[in-house]
Amino acid sequence: MSLTRKRILITGGAGFLGSHLCEKLIAAGHDVLCVDNYFTGRKDNIAALLDNPNFEALRHDVCFPLYVEVDEIYNLACPASPVHYQFDPVQTTKTSVSGAINMLGLAKRVKAKVFQASTSEIYGDPTVHPQTEDYRGNVNTIGPRACYDEGKRCAETLFFDYWRQHRTRIKVVRIFNTYGPRMHPNDGRVVSNFIVQALKGEDITVYGDGSQTRAFCYVDDLVEGFVRMMATPDEVTGPINLGNPVEIPVRELAERVIRHIGAKSKLVYKPLPVDDPLQRCPDISKARQILGWEPTVALDQGLARTIEYFDRLLRERGAD
Ligand code: NAD
Ligand code: UDP
Repeated sequence: MSLTRKRILITGGAGFLGSHLCEKLIAAGHDVLCVDNYFTGRKDNIAALLDNPNFEALRHDVCFPLYVEVDEIYNLACPASPVHYQFDPVQTTKTSVSGAINMLGLAKRVKAKVFQASTSEIYGDPTVHPQTEDYRGNVNTIGPRACYDEGKRCAETLFFDYWRQHRTRIKVVRIFNTYGPRMHPNDGRVVSNFIVQALKGEDITVYGDGSQTRAFCYVDDLVEGFVRMMATPDEVTGPINLGNPVEIPVRELAERVIRHIGAKSKLVYKPLPVDDPLQRCPDISKARQILGWEPTVALDQGLARTIEYFDRLLRERGAD
């Protein structure tokens, strides 16, 4: 194996972000092992890679130890949408915490670098805006989102304890709302929900009055940030925010989706879910400065590509 070609493990590799990362690392000539239990991931997402001799897929739950020899680990395994992570909340916490312990143990044994897909959810319903990495967050420890938020917070703690205690090389990023092709059509996240509803001519379900804000990053930009983070010198541990700092109210997102598709859908208002953060937007100064990274795909451009994907998917399903 050449010095630049690495053996890379991606947990959650058959999911939305993981499959894009698999593709990018295979295209760069690396040897990729995708590990997934297919809870929210799909074989379709990695189907195009299965014939590639540098790609391997393994069905495995990260709550159990894994013994492989690799140079780098990207730990993405965890359901990410509120609907999916609240479906079996105990399993969600186990995946974050036991998954982190197992991947850190593996990294320690084989001396691999290990990357953690953390989340803006660790800031909870933030009282600081935009969110900087030194903000400690405002999470309800006993609410329905806590299985995810606290699981991810504990995973961060484990990463930094392995760094301090064992000098394990860690890379922690906090991901803000990301969208694009291969989002699960039924995962309940706002971009996929709105697009699928509009394409089907159904009403668009806005939760609350739609004034809550989010900032949406296109998937290609995000995975570029992952790779840049992994390539940083060992003293760069993070956490570093990755996301698009252009914030919009959810209601405006709905209007944009309707405009793009030319749909006749109407907005219908539903109750705001418990503990739904009212505003969220990343401060990405660190990512700019340390990684030389910032998003390049504007929301309208990214929405157009994502709409095209879902349009094709729904047509194929209709044809089936
Ligand atoms: P996703 O649900 O599409 O992908 C998660 C993948 O992990 C799926 O393929 C799923 O089957 C797999 N998985 C779940 N539990 C597992 C387990 N116990 N063992 C093995 N595999 C398991 O979600 P995504 O959007 O691709 O998110 C990927 C990672 O990024 C997650 O860790 C998520 O918390 C983080 N993240 C994503 C976003 C976003 O906006 N997409 C935002 C913040 C953080
Ligand atoms: N949302 C909405 N309608 C939907 C799905 C979500 O109004 O059909 C809102 C949700 O209440 C939240 C925002 O959109 O305020 C983003 O939700 P998502 O589940 O995508 O991610 P979150 O940022 O909450 O993890």
